[in-house]
Amino acid sequence: MKKVSLVAQIGIAMILGVILGLIAIFSGFGPFIIDWIKPFGTIFVKMLKLIAIPLILVSLIDGISNLTDMAKLSRIGGKTVGLYLVTTVLAITLALGIANVINPGSYLAEDKREELREKFAPDALSKQESAASVEESGPLDLLVDIVPDNIFGSVSSNGNMLQVIFFAILFGIAMIMTPVKEMTPVKAFFSGTNSVILRMVEIIMKYSPIGVFALLAGLIVDVAGEDPSSAFGLFKALGVYGLSVLFGLAFMIFVFYPTIITIFTKVKYKDFFKGIFPAQLLAFSTSSSAATLPVTMDRVQKKLGVSEEVASFVLPMGATINMDGTSIHQAISAVFIAVAFGHDLSLVDQLTIVLTATLSSIGAAAVPGAGLIMLVIVLGAIGVDPAGLALIIALDRPLDMCRTVVNVTGDATVSMLIASSEGELSYGINEDQLNSEDHLEVTVKESDIEQFR
Ligand code: ASP
Repeated sequence: MKKVSLVAQIGIAMILGVILGLIAIFSGFGPFIIDWIKPFGTIFVKMLKLIAIPLILVSLIDGISNLTDMAKLSRIGGKTVGLYLVTTVLAITLALGIANVINPGSYLAEDKREELREKFAPDALSKQESAASVEESGPLDLLVDIVPDNIFGSVSSNGNMLQVIFFAILFGIAMIMTPVKEMTPVKAFFSGTNSVILRMVEIIMKYSPIGVFALLAGLIVDVAGEDPSSAFGLFKALGVYGLSVLFGLAFMIFVFYPTIITIFTKVKYKDFFKGIFPAQLLAFSTSSSAATLPVTMDRVQKKLGVSEEVASFVLPMGATINMDGTSIHQAISAVFIAVAFGHDLSLVDQLTIVLTATLSSIGAAAVPGAGLIMLVIVLGAIGVDPAGLALIIALDRPLDMCRTVVNVTGDATVSMLIASSEGELSYGINEDQLNSEDHLEVTVKESDIEQFR
């Protein structure tokens, strides 16, 4: 029998979950769904949360410690990190603009929002209390709070992810500074553990069709409550939310990247797209920047004229830490969930979203679904119950496919800017090379052959 892909499985599960939820609310067996189906969705969300701390701790340490050439490449390194940060912060600012103007959460009826808020009140209350204590404290307390005083204390709660990220960065930098002989076994340990944890994510994602099915059925029953027609209100709100995210992502691809390519390099953006398109397709179908990396590197070097030195440094680092698409998704999702749960977002909350979405997109692993897991950090930081993930989880896979395209295109764009600033693209792109007929397979074979030369 032909194996159904995970994406298709999730799609089918979504539809079945919605159908079951609707049948349940119209035929009055909602309580059965809540008691017997919804828990499987809760288990799925718990598994996502379970993996979050180990994932960021190990993948960040592994990623940073790969930068052993930092001394040699410090100039390129500085430019790369700077550009990655600037593009991410700009992407989040754009996303916040979209989220505030369109405000998808407001498409939920006022009383529905109130109801959701009450449902999640116990948690929201404690968050509000902690938010209130933040308001009473000094302006730099956010910074002070990021620095842990006991790492075991930090890893014991998902609310302390920023502290875990801080520790991981410090640890990674210290590893780079340690003599190679002593560092090698430590590095092997972290990169091996990283592979194991990525497998765990894969296992959890295998369970995702069941989780998504249960979540959606439970969500519809929960949201519909006494009034089935309000379930349709949720669909409308979710539709507007999904379109807002897609609008932000499309803006990056069709306006933002072409503009900076045109301003800062001699390359025509049409040529850039032609060169990078296969990598974008692969990003779309795998939802993983890491899986796409070999093709991104190949295209950027062979078609777009970036040197190996720049590409091999900038792109792997970008796949790990530069995720413009993920950060857009996080910002819009955070605002959507917050509004749906009846939170008013202050300016401080919005700035907190900029900071945490930047950090969590840096911390997100380049694998399917990682961005959703990291959203826990952003929600926690603005005092919104992470259970709100349930609202958007069903839409995550298609949005993940699209945000990964943006992540990969963003990495390629920065590699072009760096190459250009290093004088590599002073004559633009070699059109013959760009238009040469070699398919992906041929390109890979060529590179294999080159290795033996
Ligand atoms: N799937 C994305 C990537 O690999 C990460 C995410 O989930 O946002 O780039």
